[in-house]
Amino acid sequence: MKFTGKAKLYGVLGYPVEHSLSPAIHNAALAATDLDGVYIPLPTPPDKLAEVMTGLRALDFVGVNVTIPHKVAVIEHLDAVDQRAREIGAVNTVVFREGRAVGYNTDADGFALSLEQTGVDLGKIHTAVLLGAGGAARAVAFGLGRRGVGKIIIAARRPEQTMELVDSSACCGLELEPCAWDALEAVLPQADLFINCTPMGMSSHGPGEFGIDWTLLKAGAVVCDLIYSPPKTAFLAAAEEAGHKIVNGQGMLVEQGALAFELWNEREAPRAVMATAFRRAAYGE
Ligand code: NAP
Repeated sequence: MKFTGKAKLYGVLGYPVEHSLSPAIHNAALAATDLDGVYIPLPTPPDKLAEVMTGLRALDFVGVNVTIPHKVAVIEHLDAVDQRAREIGAVNTVVFREGRAVGYNTDADGFALSLEQTGVDLGKIHTAVLLGAGGAARAVAFGLGRRGVGKIIIAARRPEQTMELVDSSACCGLELEPCAWDALEAVLPQADLFINCTPMGMSSHGPGEFGIDWTLLKAGAVVCDLIYSPPKTAFLAAAEEAGHKIVNGQGMLVEQGALAFELWNEREAPRAVMATAFRRAAYGE
């Protein structure tokens, strides 16, 4: 790894941020491309966000990733926001260039591209059903909508959150269909793609069991979970058992990072290196 006194500075801004895998992924990418730079965790309590953003400009950072809880709050500290990030209403990547801080969102394309990389042809997906209506569901819905997925159904346990997502997306030209949490069984037979966008099933959230009747899903439907730790959630294990192709959140994490790398450095990201660094950091492989 090249790391001199002239090293370019990158980081991830969140709170807490100690569990982030981004430093491992991005430092591996910097080393593989022989860039003189370093990517560091930037633990930023919410009441320090403004000061930290001023400090990053003063230190001439090239760019940062932004994670929970700052993806929305960071917007008011930027000079400009890319149209796609504005539509999604959240920024996960900031580029500092020529004295300006510009916000982007690479989660939406990161999800869609990661699916395509596993061989899923989004052109053939007619209907997607999403569980959850938080920030990740919103990015996934935009990623799919932009690639022409015709029908995107949102099922979340709080109807007001579902409607907030549906209404705010409609303002940006994305038509989503709401579904009551207890009416999921009625829409499942339509799904070509079924995606868990909730934290249910994360190592820190217990096993995660939604009580899905897997016999309702079409035989060829693809089932995704945005979670990558554990690599196979109970949701994915049950889907696989029922015969479905399954995709976890690893590809999305690596791809959103690769897209951020390309925005900062204006060169192709070493995706294979980043994926290997992810697996080493996440699973000890
Ligand atoms: P979020 O904004 O907090 O939204 C979470 C959604 O899940 C909300 O609709 C929430 O509803 C719902 N939910 C939470 N617990 C639930 C439960 N027990 N049963 C049913 N619904 C439940 O979180 P997020 O940022 O969207 O993240 C969601 C998941 O995606 C997390 O696991 C995160 O790690 C993952 N993610 C992965 C990537 C990646 O690159 N692979 C990127 C982003 C996010 P309530 O508000 O009612 O709780």
